[in-house]
Amino acid sequence: MSVETANTEPSAAAVAEGRTRNVLIVGVGGQGVIMISKVLALLCQTQGLQVKQSEVHGMAKRGGVVFSHVRYGEEVWSPTIPMGEADVLIAMEWAEGVRWLPFLRPDTGVFIADTQQVIPPFACRNREFHANPTYATETPAEIIDMVSDGFALNAGRMAEGLGNARAANTILLGTLSAAMDFPLDEWLSVLNQFVPKGTEEINRQAFLLGREWIEKIREDPKETAPAPVLKQPLDQLDINVRLEITREWCKSCDICVKLCPERCLDLDEQQIVRLKDPAACTGCRICEWLCPDFAIAVHHENIENTEVTA
Ligand code: SF4
Ligand code: SF4
Repeated sequence: MSVETANTEPSAAAVAEGRTRNVLIVGVGGQGVIMISKVLALLCQTQGLQVKQSEVHGMAKRGGVVFSHVRYGEEVWSPTIPMGEADVLIAMEWAEGVRWLPFLRPDTGVFIADTQQVIPPFACRNREFHANPTYATETPAEIIDMVSDGFALNAGRMAEGLGNARAANTILLGTLSAAMDFPLDEWLSVLNQFVPKGTEEINRQAFLLGREWIEKIREDPKETAPAPVLKQPLDQLDINVRLEITREWCKSCDICVKLCPERCLDLDEQQIVRLKDPAACTGCRICEWLCPDFAIAVHHENIENTEVTA
């Protein structure tokens, strides 16, 4: 998916104006909304600011809505952000970003969204390959046109480029940092306290990638990521479907096994998912969308073994 940008300047520092500053972080279970929220809250505290944080967790599975309000300033009275008063809305899932737009300040609010789509099972009513699920129809360009200052990026693909698809949330944290006034070394110091041991360096790189991406876009709003070019309608291509299963990430929850429309998955003797009936797999992607741990990737490859993107 292409990356699209707006061309306005960052919003002013509300704290300097003496008012509470509001950051709304939204997404779905498993994406790291709470991690981002905690990093921000602790950072504010280390800067001597008063912070109030509130959060609502959906189910701890992909598809369950999660959001967190972080409010900080010299004095903060309430933990929840009133509608229309978020200085920054950062969305880790596209439809969630669209859904929470009314909370963004219409005049100065910064909108940052991952274009990643986590499509809930009830939206997948047609199990055919290429079937369109029921999902937000707004495009990044449309939303960015509507907001004061907007950014949409494919953080998942950027994280894959770094070699760790799970670092997408840290990339988004880096983008958030570029919309705020705290020093870079303070961000990195607090981030280090939240990431798993041994992943400090990859998370540092991911953070900087997100931060620098925003800075680059601000300098050149026309900057875009390469979009996949599809010369032919997908349903006319000769497609091979390939499932990539990351065994270490599978936690045996059984969701994909139960919800695969073709019943072609099961758990092996070590309780790790496997494709037991490759011929039955239609490549519908439901298992990929639903896995809470990103353990399945469905690849659509044409006869030259080149990945194609719907
Ligand atoms: S692949 Fe994902 S959804 Fe399937 S059993 Fe493993 S963790 Fe659960
Ligand atoms: S294994 Fe995944 S891609 Fe294949 S049919 Fe089942 S849910 Fe769809």
